[in-house]
Amino acid sequence: MINLTIVAGARPNFIKIAPILNAIKQRQEKGANIRYRLVHTGQHYDKKMSGDFFEQLNIPEPHINLEAGGGTQAEQTAAIMVGFEKELIQNRPDLVIVVGDVTSTLACSITAKKLVIDVAHVEGGIRSGDLSMPEEVNRIVTDSITDHFFTTSEIANKHLKAVGVHESRIHFVGNTMIDTLIANQNRFFSPEGPQFEGLKEKSYFVMTMHRPANVDAEHKLRALIDAILEGTGDYPVVFPVHPRTAQNLAKLGISNKRLRMVEPLSYLEFNYLVKNAKGVITDSGGITEEASVMNVPCITMRDNTERPETVNLGTNELVGTNPDNLREPLGRLLAGKWKSYRGIPLWDGKTADRIVEIILSIYSNNNN
Ligand code: UDP
Repeated sequence: MINLTIVAGARPNFIKIAPILNAIKQRQEKGANIRYRLVHTGQHYDKKMSGDFFEQLNIPEPHINLEAGGGTQAEQTAAIMVGFEKELIQNRPDLVIVVGDVTSTLACSITAKKLVIDVAHVEGGIRSGDLSMPEEVNRIVTDSITDHFFTTSEIANKHLKAVGVHESRIHFVGNTMIDTLIANQNRFFSPEGPQFEGLKEKSYFVMTMHRPANVDAEHKLRALIDAILEGTGDYPVVFPVHPRTAQNLAKLGISNKRLRMVEPLSYLEFNYLVKNAKGVITDSGGITEEASVMNVPCITMRDNTERPETVNLGTNELVGTNPDNLREPLGRLLAGKWKSYRGIPLWDGKTADRIVEIILSIYSNNNN
């Protein structure tokens, strides 16, 4: 029997693990000797950032919730490590699977390796080169101790090889976030309520913002929102506000009838809005991937990206964090002059199957 422990802690993690759990279930039904414990670290805990995703994506109840939400980066990392160490001592697996680049990814990979347990990192190897982002620190530390890398792009493979990772540990499989998108696209549905009234196909924008560089300084946040409103003509701008952004946004007291600020949306509602939007303006990583695959123009308010394939082959364009830089690309977008999605290798909806296949082939030999 192959025993896995699968970790998820924050919104983008839930979206990335769902197809892996599904693929395991399908293998179990065909008689594969593989089972898992699902650990929720509790990093994101409110319904709109966690529970809704479990429901909509049919993710089973976690076997344990470490309830390690809140606090500073260090407090949260420490709380997750303490809880996860107890979990691993009680239920020692053959392999711990971490996904993405959040605090839980870092904390759980360190904890597992200190107990001499193998770690697999789904979405390993991506790099923004920007160490001011907590996610980049999480990526580098996790990848420095990871045993098996499941990668989303050739560029990620290159980064890993450049630091001496042997090819046999790099598994180029594609993107599980896109598995979820493809599997659920026929289930997307329109959110309801006054803030969504009158939104016509390709006649509104979606924006999201939660990176510290954009939202922690109030004047910066205001300048970015002003520039977005200025550059989006008469179109409504739907803005699901991340909890991280909410506090500063409230202080600004912005009120503009085109700006529709709403709570974080469920996965199926959010992607319904993205799919039908004229364009997306964001500083998220995952959203640039989804917008690309749905062929929706995407403007990223960051100086760099760990997902350059969304720029080279997708619909994403980096404009930096200077509000003045939004005017020109928004003008082009409004004029309908935007690049189209050209297809990203292996982002085909079958990534999780490949991951489970590889795990079975590596660990069956170890166990029998
Ligand atoms: N998302 C969502 N509802 C929202 C905003 C985002 O379901 O209101 C989804 C989105 O489709 C994507 C993921 O959350 O799959 C991105 O998460 P986030 O922006 O928090 O993380 P990042 O990708 O920047 O790490």
